[in-house]
Amino acid sequence: MNRPAGAVDTHLSPSLFSGSLGTEPLLAVDNLHVEFTTRQGVARAVNGVSYSLDAGETLAVLGESGSGKSVTAQAIMGILDMPPARIPKGEIRFRGTDLLKLSESARSQIRGQQIAMVFQDALSALNPVFTVGWQIAEMFRVHRGMGRKAAYAKAIELMERVRIPAAKQRVNDYPHQFSGGMRQRIMIAMSIALDPEILIADEPTTALDVTVQAQIMELLAELQRESNMAMILITHDLGVVADVADKIAVMYAGRIVENAPVHDVYKNPAHPYAKGLLESIPRVDLKGQELYAIKGLPPNLLDMPTGCAFHPRCPYKQDECVTEVPPLHQISGTRSSACHYWREVLDGTAG
Ligand code: SF4
Repeated sequence: MNRPAGAVDTHLSPSLFSGSLGTEPLLAVDNLHVEFTTRQGVARAVNGVSYSLDAGETLAVLGESGSGKSVTAQAIMGILDMPPARIPKGEIRFRGTDLLKLSESARSQIRGQQIAMVFQDALSALNPVFTVGWQIAEMFRVHRGMGRKAAYAKAIELMERVRIPAAKQRVNDYPHQFSGGMRQRIMIAMSIALDPEILIADEPTTALDVTVQAQIMELLAELQRESNMAMILITHDLGVVADVADKIAVMYAGRIVENAPVHDVYKNPAHPYAKGLLESIPRVDLKGQELYAIKGLPPNLLDMPTGCAFHPRCPYKQDECVTEVPPLHQISGTRSSACHYWREVLDGTAG
């Protein structure tokens, strides 16, 4: 499906939700549940996820495929196919308003204009039959009512802002004429075109080589600083978030298993899964040594393990882990862990 970044399906929507925030965060996901009905049964992809985001803040949501991180983001954007998806419980409050209670037309006004998304695969998200300039300009024509010439001038300006070399000459090129990194820059340009308050970047660097990955992350951080935009960065790679994120929500099997300021997780994770992810990051000082990998596979959402969903892979598993689902223990004002043995994990005596 060609799905332009921040695609909005209404015309000319002026500014939307601009109420005062008071003590409410800019975005609050509260006890969100998302399930999918399949022929084999009901897959509970998101099980009671809560997180929040303030203006200018970056939250990294980390986890393997199937952990629920992208499904949560799609629920925030309102782009889940329902059915087969269903949201039986939870709230997604943006500026204090529960998005789940809004009509589709109200949600479509927020989508792209106040909350925008950069998708992983720029080639399939961009429309191959339109020039990149046309696709960026269309955002301004549809949502800001600009004429063709002014919209193209804005498109060039945005291409320059995301550092596409020779933007004026390349504005009439098609997506396939750009490299993967440049296409991702174009996606980013489209997503920030309408000055969103929140940018959701779903694995924005996965398909790119390491050097280009670093450049894209740098670009996102710079754009965020310039506009005080909040960002949710979805990734499976703990290595890419250290310099960009303020806090991390680590997800496993549809739940948040550790929630903490980024430096706390790097210094000393409070959940064995987060610890495993940290140990899996390649390190130059360990050159020649075998890279650590978390053993086993993520669970089947249609047949979840009993107790702690991570227990079949956890090196610290105890009998209790097989029968009792660990609650999300509040460790401090800013940190929580869904492990029965978080204290032992933190002080290194677990197992
Ligand atoms: Fe491991 Fe048990 Fe903690 Fe789950 S609750 S992460 S199995 S120690």
